[in-house]
Parts: sequence; structure tokens; C-alpha cells
Amino acid sequence: MEYFLEVVLPIPLEKLFTYKISEAEADFIQAGMRVAVPFGKTKIYTALAYKVHTHAPEAYEPKEIYQILDERPVVDKVQLKHWEWVANYYMCTLGEVVRSALPSAFLLESETLILPNKNAKVDELQLTDDEFLIYEALQHQTALKISEVSDILDKKNVLKIVNAMVHKGIVLQKEELYEQYRPKLVRYVKLAEQFEGEEQLSELLNDLNRAPKQSQVVLSLFQLRAKSAKPIPISELEKESGGSRSVIKALIDKNILEEYHIRKDRVEFDGRSGDVGAIELNEHQHRALDDIQHGFDEEKPVLLHGVTSSGKTEVYVKLIKKCLDEGKQALYLLPEIALTSQLINRLQQYFGHQVSVYHSKYSIHERVEVWNNVLNDAEKARIVIGARSSLFLPFTNLGLVVVDEEHENSFKQFDPAPRYQARDAAVVLAALHSANIVLGSATPSIESMYNAKTAKYGYASMAHRFGDVLMPDINLVDIKEATRKRRMKGHFSETLIKAIEEALEEGEQIILFQNRRGFAPVVECTTCGHVAQCPNCDVSLTYHQHRNQLRCHYCGYHMALQQACLACGSPTLDKKGFGTEQIQLELGQLFPDVSVGRMDLDTTRGKYAYEKIISSFENQEMDILVGTQMVTKGLDFRNVSLVGIMNADSMLNFPDYRAHERSFQMLTQVAGRAGRTKKRGKVLIQTYNPYHQILQQVTTNNYDKMFQEQFYEREQFKYPPLVRLIKITLKDKDFNKLNEAADWMAGSLRNVLGTQILGPEYPPVARIRRDYLKNILIKIPRKQPLAQTKNSIKRIEKSFNAISKYKSIRLVYNVDHI
Ligand code: ADP
Ligand code: ZN
Ligand code: ZN
Repeated sequence: MEYFLEVVLPIPLEKLFTYKISEAEADFIQAGMRVAVPFGKTKIYTALAYKVHTHAPEAYEPKEIYQILDERPVVDKVQLKHWEWVANYYMCTLGEVVRSALPSAFLLESETLILPNKNAKVDELQLTDDEFLIYEALQHQTALKISEVSDILDKKNVLKIVNAMVHKGIVLQKEELYEQYRPKLVRYVKLAEQFEGEEQLSELLNDLNRAPKQSQVVLSLFQLRAKSAKPIPISELEKESGGSRSVIKALIDKNILEEYHIRKDRVEFDGRSGDVGAIELNEHQHRALDDIQHGFDEEKPVLLHGVTSSGKTEVYVKLIKKCLDEGKQALYLLPEIALTSQLINRLQQYFGHQVSVYHSKYSIHERVEVWNNVLNDAEKARIVIGARSSLFLPFTNLGLVVVDEEHENSFKQFDPAPRYQARDAAVVLAALHSANIVLGSATPSIESMYNAKTAKYGYASMAHRFGDVLMPDINLVDIKEATRKRRMKGHFSETLIKAIEEALEEGEQIILFQNRRGFAPVVECTTCGHVAQCPNCDVSLTYHQHRNQLRCHYCGYHMALQQACLACGSPTLDKKGFGTEQIQLELGQLFPDVSVGRMDLDTTRGKYAYEKIISSFENQEMDILVGTQMVTKGLDFRNVSLVGIMNADSMLNFPDYRAHERSFQMLTQVAGRAGRTKKRGKVLIQTYNPYHQILQQVTTNNYDKMFQEQFYEREQFKYPPLVRLIKITLKDKDFNKLNEAADWMAGSLRNVLGTQILGPEYPPVARIRRDYLKNILIKIPRKQPLAQTKNSIKRIEKSFNAISKYKSIRLVYNVDHI
């Protein structure tokens, strides 16, 4: 009898591919193991075993596999089922899901580059002959392709050898270049508690009578404290008092001063774990927990709607505790950007070493480790906290999924395929495992709220901030009026400037939100109106003052800012609109002594760049933080009393059916960063449009009204959740061909589907990286079977692909496009 193996290749092939295997191999191989296989003329891939059978493929003569790479499956059965659902639902191939789901270290292929690991201490005597040859070759060459390794060893089967070397850390994969970051520890001093109070203090100064240097230091500490409520770094006290470190140290040794750090190492866990039992939930949290449990009992996903700072995390912690007590694994999903050490530390405090983190900024090595721990149901990975891709980990024993900040649109992957919505895929994952799932947010998405209202999901709510902290006081500032009366300084209204001054005086911190990076979006010639455009994309270039460059935010193209207009030569160029960089600059002019930080894509590129900004803001080394939507993400800063939104209008006017929902969410979230402790926080929203209903709903914290109005509009204009959307994007370098093809496609869809089809239309940016783009939007009523519609679309695609002149055109499907 002949034996065959169907495998998933990690490339966009519609079908699985079949190889020939021996009887012994057929006995050994299980679905979910990796095998090295030849493909095409020369390529080698790591593929995933799918099924062993005895039917020879009809269309081609199967090749033999090269090698089995695993002793046991690295992908679990339920997991594979889930991946098939993802491929099916989001209209991509299983291979594309595999490529995106498995850590790249698992998918070595002929084109993978390996590099020597300069930091590894290699004992040459411990290497096998093959390993030594590779190791030696890498001493002379900066990198080798796997196919070159094949040549060096004169063997086809090298993946296993290279895998082992990657695992031992002798070689690195190309992507694996990451920086190391140790946060700096700032040392602060304060007066020991027993000396607080006038009497105690004068007694202390009396005692220090004969130590004038020491008493000078204590007095200086008082002067510093009088000036500002900020923590006092030792270095500053040293400077202010003219005393030396040794004097300060003497005072610390005598327990008159206390030394402390605000932030310990952010990423490492210090080994102590607290007691979950010790958290006392308040009545609102208790009720929410009961309601969630009730939903779980009915086997429903549950939406937890709790205002900012209501203590959702503590409720999750209780749920996780229960899940672990039942011996199961828990997954805590967060949008990438909200995945901060703040939260990781909080969870580690309760669950200690049981918490693992899975994150795209982690090294390949770290990711493989988490993968294996989850697969083995190891103690270390009982709780995985991660961004959307952690959904693809090999859980065998999943009991609970938490999707925090469920409204975040970054849960949707745009590029490349699979273009999945992690929140929705998590609901399916939980169902496959019969696990519980809770979706939490202060500003739930319209979809999830709709699901709760129609009892598809359970619902729990918390309408009060924890500890009776008041919701922030939100006010609108009419900048139309202020501009007319010439009462603006740059982009700052008098009201905002005054509020900033007050907060600074109190030693409190400020967040300013401007939803655009860069300096000024466009540079326009005042003579002829010319605006510099990207040569590859259909957008204007954005001015970045820091480098004095014009940059494209889509493809990265950049050029130096010209002194004169490129079209007419006139030197009168005007900068229009404004971004974070300009706000930072204006602040420097308005408040020269104040330290201002900035958080946007440009300042947060490295692995820990984001962490560095957060920690320095937490340490109060900055007074004001200017940022894009990054500053809205679930951060918990204790000392922020004022949040300013520079301009709410650009968000509201965005041409998208979700713009209003999203503005509400973004503004409410950023407002929620203010006053998370005792004092009531203040929020100022600058706008040209203070009567806009969304702004009214934000200031009155009226989620229900927002939901009603938005839902009504979605009903009127037929948008989700009332219909499903599939967006088809066609791409080509040839403008005319693209138009013709898009018309053909839309025409066929109209003929066959009988549902509402919009387009073809150019997207707002109609050319990216030299490709022209055109979109077709398909609206599918809820009651129409989705699978059937997708099949029809796939059939049309087949006919489309059969037209030879359309061969170069690429089709991209985006299901549940947002
Ligand atoms: P949310 O995630 O809803 O915005 P958090 O979970 O960050 O709110 O809670 C806000 C603050 O209240 C945090 O500092 C948290 O430690 C504190 N808190 C919440 N619940 C409790 C509790 N039961 N006991 C003590 N502190 C709590
Ligand atoms: Zn000009
Ligand atoms: Zn471009």
C-alpha cells in the first residue's frame, strides 16, 4: 500500500498539498507535526502535517518529504480547527493562517537567513560536525540562506540541524535583532514620616543644631517641597542644598530621610506574588462578577461595560483565579499598544510566575518558549497575556478568555492575511474549547453592545469609578469664537493655557491629545497652491520639523523640505494643520521651563521605546505628555489631573461610518486618564463645533444616547451590525486595467449576489506604493447565509482569474471590514 501526507504549506495556496511517505512515516506522523518538504524546483519549506491517507493525488506526481521535524505535534487539534475557521471566515488560505500563527522560528525555509549570534559563548567541541561547518561558515559570512547551508553540508535535510542551532542560540534568524533596555533607576528622597508636622520638625532642626550641613539639607528639602509637589530626586537635593552625597547619606542612615525608587525594573518580575484573596471587591464589582458568572452559566460570552477606572482589572483577576483553581489556562487579550508593563506587573503581583507574555516585540526565542509552555500546559504559562496573535497559541486546556478594551479597532488585522478580528475569533476559540469569555470596555463597540441587547451575549456593568473617585469634569472650549476674537496662542486657547498653568502650579501632570503625528500635515505654496505629493502614493507629504523633512506616512518616502515651491519657485510656503510635533514646540514657547514629552509612532519605534516614555512620565520626569491615540490606551497615571484635547473636529469629520463611534470612544478613553485618584480630573476639549451631538454625549458621559443614535444611523444606512461587510480591494500598477477589471468584478457581483454592492470606488488614498487601488463593498443582510455568499464570490473570482489580461491584478478580501 502507498501512503500519502497532506500538508499545509505556509503560503497562499488554495489547496493542501500531498507528499509521498513510507509506511513507517505514516505510522509516526500526526496532524500538527512539522515536516520539511521540497516545493517547486528548488524551494524547501517547513509544512504542517494535516492528514495521512492512501489516496494518490490525481493532478500531479507527489514528491517525497525530506524529513519529519517534530517528535510530537506542535499544533493541537482544536487549534487547527480554529485556524480552519479563521481561513474560512476571513476568506484566506490555511497556509496564510499558519504563516501568521506559528513563530517564525518554527517555519525555517530555503530563503530564511541565519546570522551568527555574536553574544553566544560557543564551545566548539560541543558542536556536531555539521554544526561546526555552519558555525565556521558564519565566521566568514555575515549571513547564510538555508539553501546555502544545504550546499555547504551537501545535504537536502538541513532544517533539523539549523533548528537545533537556533534553539541553542548559536545562530539567529534575520528578524531577531532587538535591543536591550534597562530602565534607569532614579533615586528619590523624602522626610521620614515621624518628622512630618511642625513640632516634630522644629525638634529635629534643634537636634541637628550641631550639624549645620545636615540641617541645611533638611531645610533645602523643605524649600523644594514648597516649590512643587513632585518627588525630589537625590541629585536635585544635592544641588539645591550645596551638600554632598555623604551628608545626605548620613541623614538616610539616621532614618531622618528615606530613600526610595518610584519604579523598579519594568519587565522582570521581582518574584513576590500577592494574594488574590486579599482583593476586596466593592459592591459594584461584586454585582458585575455575579452577572458575568450568570452569563457564563448560560454559556454565553459576556460584555463587561465598566466606566474608566471602575476596577475591571480586579474583576478579571477574580475570574482568572477561579479558572486557575479549576486547573485551566487563561488568555488575557489586549490591543498591542495597551500591552504595557503596568498591566503585566499588576497581574504578576497576583499570579507570580504563572504569567507569560506573548508579544510581537519579543524575540523569536521568547515566543518559542511561550509556545512550548502553553503546549505543555506548563505552570509558567497558565495565564498568557498577549496581543491579538496570542489567540493562535496551542492551548489544550483553555478555561477563560478576557478581551480587554474590546472596542479597539486594532484587534482587526489589516495586513497581511489573515485579516481577522481577534475579538470575534476569540469568541469562536472559546466556544471550541467550551471556555468562558468576557469582553470588557468602558466604551463597548456598537456590535458587542448590540449582541448584549439582543441577549446573544450576557451583560454586566459598573457605572462608578473605584473608591468613589469622581468621573472627570469634561468641558468644551469653543475655538471658533476664540479664533475670531484672536484669543488663541498657536493652537492653545486661553482656557487651556490657564488650566495648564494651574495644574503645573499644583505639581500635577498633563496629557495633551492630538490625533496626528508630525509637525504640519501639509506644506502649501501660498502663491500657486501647490502641495508636495508622494510620488508613490496618492497623498500629500507630511512635514516633520525634527528632521526638516517631508514624509509619506504610507510608504515611508521622504525628501528634504524645499526652500521654494517645487511648482512655481515662490518662497512663501505655508504650513497647514498641525500634529504632535508642533504642539510640543508651541509648549516649549509657552512654558519654557516645563519638560514636555511626546508619544507617537515616531517616538516609539524600538522594543522598549514606548516603555521608556511611560516610565519617565510615571516617574514625573516630564510634566506634560503630548501624544496621539497611543495615550488613550488604558494607562493608569496617578498624578494626571488635566487632559487637553487639542482639536476634536478632525476625528469627527473623518469620512467613515464609524467616525462618530470611534470619536466617542477615543475622547472618553483619553478623558479617563484624568484624575484617577482622589482629586477630580479635568478635561478640556477644544473644538470648532461645540454643539456636535457626540461631543455633548462625551461631556455628559452618555454612552446610551450615543449607542441609540449611532444604531439608528446604521439601521438607516445599512451598516454593521445590521449587515455584514466584505470589502474587496483590487490593486494594480496599470490604472486603466484596474478600472476595467473593477467594473467587471462589480458587474458580476451585482448579477450573481443580488445584495447591495457599492462601488467600485477609489479609497481616500487611491494609490499606495505605486499601486492603484479600487474598492468594492458588499453588504450582506444578517439573515442571508454568509457561507453561500462567500462561495459565490469565490466562483466569480475563478472566472476573473481565467481572464488572462487581469492576471496581474491582485484581489484582497476583507471580511467584517471596519
Ligand atoms: P479600569 O480597568 O476599569 O479602568 P482599574 O482596574 O485600573 O480600572 O482600577 C482603577 C483603580 O482602582 C486601580 O488603581 C485599581 O488598583 C483600583 N482598584 C480597583 N478595584 C479595587 C479593589 N477591589 N481593591 C483595591 N483597589 C482596587
Ligand atoms: Zn507655488
Ligand atoms: Zn508614499
